[in-house]
Amino acid sequence: MAKLTFPGGIQLNGEKQLTKDAPFINLFPEGELVFPLSQHIGEPAVPVVKEGDFVRMGQVIARADGRLSAPIHAPVSGQITAVEDRLTADGTQARSIVLENDGLYLEIPYPPNRHIYSLRREEILAGIRSAGITGLGGASLPSAVKIEEADPESVDFCIANCMESEPYLTAGYRRLVESPWKVINGLRIVLRMFPKARGVIALPSGYADCAAQLRELTAQMPHVQVRVLPDKYPQGAERQLIYAITGRTLNRTMLPHDIGCIVYNLDTLVAINQACITNEPLMTRTLTLSGRAAEAPGNYRVRLGMSCREFLEQAGGLKEGYTEEDVLFLDGGPMMGRPYASLDVPVTKLTRGLICIPRHELPSVRTSACIRCGRCAGVCPNRLTPFRLLRDLEKEKDDRFIAHGGLECSGCGACTYICPAGLSLSDRIDEYREQLLKDPEKTGDYARRYIRR
Ligand code: SF4
Ligand code: SF4
Repeated sequence: MAKLTFPGGIQLNGEKQLTKDAPFINLFPEGELVFPLSQHIGEPAVPVVKEGDFVRMGQVIARADGRLSAPIHAPVSGQITAVEDRLTADGTQARSIVLENDGLYLEIPYPPNRHIYSLRREEILAGIRSAGITGLGGASLPSAVKIEEADPESVDFCIANCMESEPYLTAGYRRLVESPWKVINGLRIVLRMFPKARGVIALPSGYADCAAQLRELTAQMPHVQVRVLPDKYPQGAERQLIYAITGRTLNRTMLPHDIGCIVYNLDTLVAINQACITNEPLMTRTLTLSGRAAEAPGNYRVRLGMSCREFLEQAGGLKEGYTEEDVLFLDGGPMMGRPYASLDVPVTKLTRGLICIPRHELPSVRTSACIRCGRCAGVCPNRLTPFRLLRDLEKEKDDRFIAHGGLECSGCGACTYICPAGLSLSDRIDEYREQLLKDPEKTGDYARRYIRR
């Protein structure tokens, strides 16, 4: 039964007014584009091009290596100039293909468009796989795997996750405003795989202005519902969303299809629609550039491989008076986003956004001992008691950490945000959890699920 919300969570200042009304602007990279071979959870893709090759836009430049891997396509035409190690957003070096854009955008020929009603199961799966689509909400799992692993008869909910509950990010909202049909059709394609499922388009109350249009567009689709959920962080997390829509609970040893659900982020659904209808692969990301240090906060359609520095420069750069040293650059929102190791890294399928926060705006955190106020437990969406987990990990009491549910932590950051003592609860619990998951003897099904990830 729909609860439309979940226990715990926090209200955040979304800062979405900075970019919500900014329509997408297409950016065209100049010079080189870089494609790390690992942009998904499985084995790195394998290059099928070499230095000196000419490639067209849409052409495969690296093939998938196994079912958890995904191919990579050229988003421009030009010449391959290297296959070498390059820096990525997390500061590590990764084998990458380097492509010099010739500015001509010469495209491969695509097969004729297809109609949703003519699509068969194998065609949909092949379309998603060959387009290189991975979970664009951050999961990075090749998107066909969710469908392949689920029993078509036992899935009764396919959910379009339009929550975008991180502050600053509004590219999902712009999708709903500018191309709602692409989201709806992506969901309809997924629904073709699950004959007993109903589709739910879930969006936050802050995006309620899109609900009327979505309802109108789906009025003749009795198996598709539009649900508006209260704005609360982390309502976009898979477990919290499933609970809000279905009342069902999921733990971290399970997958959504174990409880009859398939969840796709709205960007992923748009990519699925494109792959199955127009046969085009995943070549761009729609990203928000925001933060008070950015000259022109907005929403941008960015080709994969373009450097974040060029993205920022083409989008107006930093406001006058700011240098790069004055700014924290975040890949994604402030709750779960990660600082960019450098701006000289490419936009990839994993990129969540480019948020430029002036360092003087960052809260100065003074830490003290836990005062046992219990607020962290009150906001934990997974009903954990973070102060107790902190005590367990500080004493290296692995068994107690596990018994107190530490492996269920999703690293959402709500406990850190609320803690009056300024304790980095989320990071510390999440790091400890990741360490424990390397030991299947101790963590059983959790470790098996983690390794498969
Ligand atoms: S980071 Fe973990 S412990 Fe903290 S609120 Fe989120 S799920 Fe709970
Ligand atoms: S919110 Fe911070 S101070 Fe309060 S109980 Fe949790 S850890 Fe302790």
